[in-house]
Amino acid sequence: MKILIATPEATPYVKTGGLADVTGALLKEYTRMNHQPSLVLPLYRQIREHFKLADTGQRVNVPIGNRRAACRILSHGPFVYFLECDEFFDRDGLYGTPGGDYPDNAARFIFFARAALEACIALRLEPDVIHCNDWQTGLIPLYMRTLYRGGLFSKTVTLMTIHNLGYQGLFDVSYLPLTGLSAEWFNPEGIEFYGKINFLKAGLIASDVITTVSNTYAKEILTPEYGYGLDGLLRKRASVIHGIINGIDTDAWDPLRDTSIPATYGASELSGKRVCKNELMKECSLSAHNRNIPLLSFVGRLSAQKGLDIFIEAADDIMATGINVIILGKGDEEIQNNILSFARKHRGTLFVKIGYDEAFAHWVYAGSDLLLMPSRYEPCGLGQLIAMRYGTIPVARRTGGLQDTIADYEPLRGSGTGFLFDDYRASSLKDCLGRALCAYMDNRRWKKIISGAMAQDFSWERSAREYVTLYTDAINRKKG
Ligand code: ADP
Repeated sequence: MKILIATPEATPYVKTGGLADVTGALLKEYTRMNHQPSLVLPLYRQIREHFKLADTGQRVNVPIGNRRAACRILSHGPFVYFLECDEFFDRDGLYGTPGGDYPDNAARFIFFARAALEACIALRLEPDVIHCNDWQTGLIPLYMRTLYRGGLFSKTVTLMTIHNLGYQGLFDVSYLPLTGLSAEWFNPEGIEFYGKINFLKAGLIASDVITTVSNTYAKEILTPEYGYGLDGLLRKRASVIHGIINGIDTDAWDPLRDTSIPATYGASELSGKRVCKNELMKECSLSAHNRNIPLLSFVGRLSAQKGLDIFIEAADDIMATGINVIILGKGDEEIQNNILSFARKHRGTLFVKIGYDEAFAHWVYAGSDLLLMPSRYEPCGLGQLIAMRYGTIPVARRTGGLQDTIADYEPLRGSGTGFLFDDYRASSLKDCLGRALCAYMDNRRWKKIISGAMAQDFSWERSAREYVTLYTDAINRKKG
């Protein structure tokens, strides 16, 4: 099957979140499964700086409003295409600066959506399916039903994956002419959303299949609480919505072979994990590095979604239990400042690193005892999957993919791979952490939890097969 993955991010080229892991992993998995996958991405500055790209010799002129933007198509290996348009993508950031989003994001991703289809035509890719990811690619399915209807795409189906409904690509209606779509689309049945244009909505109304990244999140987004204003539309399209859980790249995340950590280890021999913890605590100047005090860590975007506000609310009590904490993250300035001021108060027991640091993240996953994920909502979450693979036990809110991948510990049966809490409240988080610390004190129990977590299978194989089944069903439906 010819599968084109259109995405704003993919590992190893460019990543700000889990979406990049998913698209990068799917490309690998489909290649292994002998499909013919390809990936199309904008050529951001950081990709040009780190990868040697080849010129395909193909150029396309992409319509944007009443002008055309020149686009060169570059490639890396046989399957990965980059769309070059320096006016839009030769910048420091992907979507903006620390001060906010780029003001021309609408034009940038109108360009990307159209350029992806133009590139398909120029390269004669003739995909059976175009798999779109998040709002940045949301216009593609709608273009295929309108401006690019028939022709090369007459047999192509589209699948739209929602990685996070909190980000929809909302823009002022004045950008509508740039899309090339007729004004008729600007209505509540179309791409209008409370007076704005909504790029993700374009994908949701026009794609053949919609997926999101866990079964629980697929149900949650149908409710006003999690639907971000799109729950009505999603309920109408419920029959084509599916949840497919993300996997992780088990080659890149492997405690037995990881070169970013001070010592490797496996489930049967955890001494390497102790070395990782000791070294990590020294590195972070955590004073109790030679004592067996639990180490709780957070790795992730510092955004309201990730629930650090209830951690901060509970933090004085949590620190009073005597545990050590590491926070690695980047994002919202206010959250960042709150955490930093808290770290000053708890020097020696709470370490904060602001920034995006892949190698350090490996070390934190390996060297910690517990991973904190008190998310308000979590479409899938990769942190808990990585943590479990490294024998680090998640303390998480029972929502979305966290609920689907973590089995709450039951002391009577001695079963479970983590600790879950329901209510989004500081007191619930504290109680949950209390249960985890209690289990931690019992060495035998703790080892059993670790080996259960490490034995989980989070590889991509099954999920990739589920996507292919959805593509196949949609292709067959279209053939009629
Ligand atoms: P989201 O996509 O909402 O950001 P996920 O849990 O799905 O969250 O994926 C986040 C991914 O990004 C994980 O692989 C995590 O390890 C990584 N990550 C997030 N923040 C950082 C950071 N500051 N440094 C290194 N890796 C990070």
